[in-house]
Amino acid sequence: NDSSLSTATMSNDKLLGGLLASKFDEGSCLSRYQSYLYRKASPHKPSAYLISKLRNYEHVHRTCGPHTKSYDKIMTKGAKFSKNDARMKCKYIVWTASNGLGNRMLTLAAAFLYAILTDRVLLVRFENDMIGLFCEPFPDSSWLLPRDFPYWKDRKHIETYENMLMKDQRNNSKELLPSFLILNLQHTHDGHNNFFHCDHSQVLLQKVRVLILTSDQYFVPTLFMIPSFRQDLSKMFPEKDTVFHHLGRYLFHPSNEAWELISRFYQAHLAKANERIGMQIRVYNTHKEPHQTVINEIIACTVKHKLLPELDLQKPAAATSVLKNQTSKAVLVASLFSEYGEKLRAMYLRNKTVTNEVIRVYQPSHEERQKSSNGMHNIKAWTEIYLLSLCDSLITSRKSTFGYVAQSLGGLKPWILQRAYGETIKNPPCERAMSMEPCFHYPPKYDCRSNATVDFTSLFHHMMHCEDVSNGLRLV
Ligand code: GDP
Repeated sequence: NDSSLSTATMSNDKLLGGLLASKFDEGSCLSRYQSYLYRKASPHKPSAYLISKLRNYEHVHRTCGPHTKSYDKIMTKGAKFSKNDARMKCKYIVWTASNGLGNRMLTLAAAFLYAILTDRVLLVRFENDMIGLFCEPFPDSSWLLPRDFPYWKDRKHIETYENMLMKDQRNNSKELLPSFLILNLQHTHDGHNNFFHCDHSQVLLQKVRVLILTSDQYFVPTLFMIPSFRQDLSKMFPEKDTVFHHLGRYLFHPSNEAWELISRFYQAHLAKANERIGMQIRVYNTHKEPHQTVINEIIACTVKHKLLPELDLQKPAAATSVLKNQTSKAVLVASLFSEYGEKLRAMYLRNKTVTNEVIRVYQPSHEERQKSSNGMHNIKAWTEIYLLSLCDSLITSRKSTFGYVAQSLGGLKPWILQRAYGETIKNPPCERAMSMEPCFHYPPKYDCRSNATVDFTSLFHHMMHCEDVSNGLRLV
């Protein structure tokens, strides 16, 4: 009957079209089943195949996760395996942090996808600066790497991926492969030339029981380049630009502490507005890009694309309360600097707009500088990323992974601000992203088969160079 149908649709929404498992205790993670009350339903449905891969992954994680028999045997006994152990199926990828929260979330999602594709279990090495941010993503288990993992501190004696490749070239893989291997995919670590996208590397990596990954890159496009993964990926993601959108919504649920900040802020300032505009202003050099120039650019961008109305300079604003039939827009500003929120707020308080809309500006924090090893600082960053993702439209800064996470979670194609110099702003002041996917800043440039340099956008029609990083790659 009708009522059961509406309950079914509702619980379906609550589980984001089947993306989320229903097995969790709700109280331990309020955001997991409440997020649908704060966001518009995504027009992008996860494929049935992706859902089945996720349920299967959850099963594997339960079987191999921390403190299972397999885990204890493989992870705490170190590198010595007997023949019997070879039959044990469990393999692992240990994620380690590098760079800011945006970078970390992108690499977590990429590592998770790699884990699914290679039947590995994803474990995360969270220091205190990451512990309070997210709920556990996998039912009846944990993704936290236990502290007694023998290589938690001392990594000096572990074989590296480069070394393994070199040895493999020298003696045609006659030597035994290590059980633990450090895989460094950071951009500073020969990002363009690491051969990770080549099948021969994947064949070797497959044989390693425990990979310890360090990366600051969204290397998902790489996975699409690897022939042995391609079919699985196409079935999981018929819409290629939804990888982070789905995996991010699956993995990243704000902890109760973060959720309290998010939901309270949302209800106090954003819920009642007719429209919510998010602005993520990441300025690296305030001398080259003075605050006022950036403000001018933001205004030029919002007016040009009708995100915000022009000011009516003839009439100063009088009463501050919103009249009954007056529409209102809420602007959420995320930035390290307080100047943006303050200047924009003052501007819209002092002046009316030509459309008579009321514009309210809010900036939750201004941390002045990046402090990524501080837990409270990261909670603020996560809160703002999440709040931005709840907006109806977004303006972001170039090359910022902070903005990428917000846009992808929100399913939004942002307007990306151009870099301003001195007092000049570029024309056009901002450019619409063609995809909500994050940009992979340092993709490979080497074609494994032809042994020559290649532009991968010419080989894959669903990859484009990013608007904000010309050498980067984005799935579209
Ligand atoms: P990216 O450097 O812009 O790619 O983004 P990351 O998230 O990797 O690193 C920047 C870090 O600086 C963030 O994780 C925050 O710790 C901090 N940060 C930068 N912009 C903001 C902001 O608007 N709000 C808050 N709260 N923190 C920010």
